[in-house]
Amino acid sequence: MSEKPLQIKTQLDWSAYESHGSFGDFGDAEAAPASGGGYAKAAAVCMGKRHCQRKDNGVMCPSFRVTDDEKHSTHHRAATLKAALDGKFGEHPFLNEELADALELCVSCKGCKSECPHGVDMALLRVEALAQRWQQLGRIPLRERVFAYTPRYAKYLKLFNWVGATRKRLPLIAKAMESWLGIAAKRSLPRAAAQDFISSQPRSVAVNEGAREVVLLVDTFSNHLDPQIAQAALEVLQAAGYTVHIAQPAAGERALCCGRTFLSNGLIDEARNEASRLLATLAPYAERGLPIIGLEPSCLLMLRDEYHALGLGVRVAALARSALLLEEFLAREHDAKRLELALKPLNEKVLVHGHCHQKAFGAMPAMGKVLGLVPGLQVEFIESSCCGMAGSFGMEAEHYAVAMQMGELSLLPQVRAAAANTLLIANGTSCRHQIRDGAAREARHLAQILRRALR
Ligand code: SF4
Ligand code: SF4
Repeated sequence: MSEKPLQIKTQLDWSAYESHGSFGDFGDAEAAPASGGGYAKAAAVCMGKRHCQRKDNGVMCPSFRVTDDEKHSTHHRAATLKAALDGKFGEHPFLNEELADALELCVSCKGCKSECPHGVDMALLRVEALAQRWQQLGRIPLRERVFAYTPRYAKYLKLFNWVGATRKRLPLIAKAMESWLGIAAKRSLPRAAAQDFISSQPRSVAVNEGAREVVLLVDTFSNHLDPQIAQAALEVLQAAGYTVHIAQPAAGERALCCGRTFLSNGLIDEARNEASRLLATLAPYAERGLPIIGLEPSCLLMLRDEYHALGLGVRVAALARSALLLEEFLAREHDAKRLELALKPLNEKVLVHGHCHQKAFGAMPAMGKVLGLVPGLQVEFIESSCCGMAGSFGMEAEHYAVAMQMGELSLLPQVRAAAANTLLIANGTSCRHQIRDGAAREARHLAQILRRALR
């Protein structure tokens, strides 16, 4: 096999890894592969001490936790990627099956970015590898395109709710869909709401003198699948006295989207297009210092994380500083003694499952703080790794079994063991889907519990 340096033009901006100073301790630079620049250095962050092969508390690494196989650990992924960039897999390393196998079960949970002592960001490394794979392959498979383009056709999903219902009644149709598209026959399909949230909202709100303004960023999933969550968040923020701007596209333009589904499936140019549109809309608010509040963890947190790798220019910094999950915003306001939210007692118990990205970005203490504001509410957190759904991962036929094993590690048994009147909270749309499929229970978003407690 050839081991000459490869010619790789990366699609993400890996310049943060180019200098020791900007990224701290990423290991011995000489150990970084010769090709790939900052991308290679990002893979070389792995120092090989294998904390990713432990199974104590935390998220990292869900695929190692269920397979018990070193080949499905962060360390092996980083080592295989380094070998690929060192030219050990020939001139088209991203088509190599050894590399594809190593990355196959990475669910992009970001557990390694927060829990690995050296902060290996395998989720982002995997995105670049996928994008390079599609480029070397010369095409993007149909299923990946279907998942990636969800935001573009989401407004039509309600017309196809009958497909999900028919699949349930006629398993042969589910099987046919599995063979044709690779979507697991045993998986339910998400059901769209009859009316989305954003189209029912005014395009602008009156701002009174001295108003405390915030921006609510409603993602594709909260908009089309669970508009009641966006409505609940709006009512909670308004009840707390904020003037809420709903982030909206310019008149006649398609809906705003953070780009998450494109990025996760390796369509980096499309992700960048969506991120640029969102940035153009939100930057004026961010530059005025207004908080930009999101509901779906993987969508909102992308503004603080992957947007820095999309080459979007200097305005990203202000946007990243302003982007907050609802729980982070409310906790911050409470700490600053600015939160005026009158809540009535709820003498109920809630069991909370944190989305992997909430855990990776330290949002769980804010969940505890905000739920603690509801008098009488007994709050218990589930100690769990990834739910297993992880965006589209758990929908994919070849990943269904391992996705369910991830759920069975701790989340699903604890949900099943919960009393019928225990409220369940899961802020991620995928996590709620997994709980519905795996434990036949409905979980809610934090915003819905808070609205229930509004006086
Ligand atoms: S990925 Fe992180 S925890 Fe695992 S071996 Fe590499 S440096 Fe250690
Ligand atoms: S992103 Fe998650 S699944 Fe992927 S390597 Fe890191 S910890 Fe493992």
